[in-house]
Amino acid sequence: MFDFDPDRQNPPNSRRFFLASAAAAVAGLALWQWGKPRVLAAAPKAKDDPKEVTIVQFSDSGQRLKKERIAKVVKSEEEWRKQLPAGVFDITRNADTEIAYTGKYWNLHEKGIYRCICCDNALFDSATKFESGTGWPSFWAPIAAENVTESRDLTLGMMRTAVSCTECDAHLGHVFDDGPEPTHLRYCMNSASLRFVAHT
Ligand SMILES: [Zn+2]
Repeated sequence: MFDFDPDRQNPPNSRRFFLASAAAAVAGLALWQWGKPRVLAAAPKAKDDPKEVTIVQFSDSGQRLKKERIAKVVKSEEEWRKQLPAGVFDITRNADTEIAYTGKYWNLHEKGIYRCICCDNALFDSATKFESGTGWPSFWAPIAAENVTESRDLTLGMMRTAVSCTECDAHLGHVFDDGPEPTHLRYCMNSASLRFVAHT
């Protein structure tokens, strides 16, 4: 029978050996975690999110109204499927990407604001829209930082920053750091995630 008594039986350097083993185990664990596919969903599950969010309300004419705390829009997959056309569902709820030059807003130059197709949250103003040459509507800033949420997206073997609607978690697109002045950011959006409201 194994009689374990560290004070009596272990050699003098056993503690050092134990610590070295523990360090190796920790390093191994870290490597194991590093090796795991760490996919951060662009549209996180609603149950993990806060029930309330802070957003800035805007009028259809683009006027900033007020910052307020509101209940987050949470719907089941079935409810979203009923509300949205299939392609829009795939993009907004499953982080799909529309084919370049096929969306309705990449070449739109009218003045207005762009709201979330899912919940109407104000997202972008035409004043920050620019010609990116990508075939997707591109902006150098959101209408209010609070209204969009950025998260790390490691899908497709790339490290990108996904952008979603703060109010309903709709996937909108990605943001890159190769945009124009003054922010040098390029919010590369899916037309399908947006609803344009022309200034009246
Ligand atoms: Zn939304």
